[in-house]
Formats: sequence, C-alpha cells, structure tokens
Amino acid sequence: MNATQAEALARYSHRAIDQDNIGLYEGWLAHELRLNKCADCGKWHEPARAICPSCWSMNVAPAPVSGRGTVYLAILLRQGREEEGVTYPYPVALIELEDQPGLRYTSTVIDAAWEDIKPGTPVKLDWTERNRAPFPVFRIDQTRINEVKS
Ligand SMILES: [Zn+2]
Repeated sequence: MNATQAEALARYSHRAIDQDNIGLYEGWLAHELRLNKCADCGKWHEPARAICPSCWSMNVAPAPVSGRGTVYLAILLRQGREEEGVTYPYPVALIELEDQPGLRYTSTVIDAAWEDIKPGTPVKLDWTERNRAPFPVFRIDQTRINEVKS
C-alpha cells in the first residue's frame, strides 16, 4: 500500500473501501471523480470491479470522468442515518455521465430546489467537505440548461 492509499483508508474509514475501489477514493482526495475503466475495450463501469463486466479483462484501472452529465432519476430521502453534511429531506440523484451511455453514478445535487432536480437536467461535478475529507456532489449546470430544453 502506498502513502495515498493509506491516506484514503484513514480519511474515508467510514466507507467500505476495498482493493477494487480504493483508487476511486484516492481520486476523491485529489478532487477527481474516477471510475474504473477497461484498458482493453475502453468501457467504464460503476461500481468498481476487478474484472471488466463487458469483456472480462482484468486490465481495469481508475480514470477520471468529465464530471458532466444529466439527472437520470432522483428520489427525496426523508429519513436516514445521521451523517455529516446530510440534512433531510435529502435528494439522492442517479447521474448519467456523458462519458459513456448508461454510465451512472449515485450522488446528490446541491444548492437546488427539489422541483428543479428532474430527469434530463444537466449537472456538473463539484466538491464539498464531509468528515473533513473531499466529497463529490453535483450541481445544476446553468450554462447547459437551455441547450437541453431547446
Ligand atoms: Zn473491457
């Protein structure tokens, strides 16, 4: 284990980190949303796996995604466990990333009214701090909101 992996394990000790996904948390430390990508077929997958679900290659490694996407679906969580930075009701959004059709990442949309978090809404990656560590979130991308509606 290298120093960055040790830091990721320490700072995200409340999360289920394993050999397949630790590279994603190393990315969080660097404010980079990384998902596992296959070097043989070029496809991304989420959640992280040691074997590419498309071609079964073991030649997978975390790589940064663009951070641009659209809301695929959203639910409003009215209750849940206590967690720093989470107040209820809390929007949980499945974000379809533009990097690959069907590549979706579960997150939240911040600084937005619930009525505005609709399927198709353009969003972009941003970062907040939770438990004194970087945490990826999305916000509505106002620069792209008109291109989607028109
Ligand atoms: Zn593959």
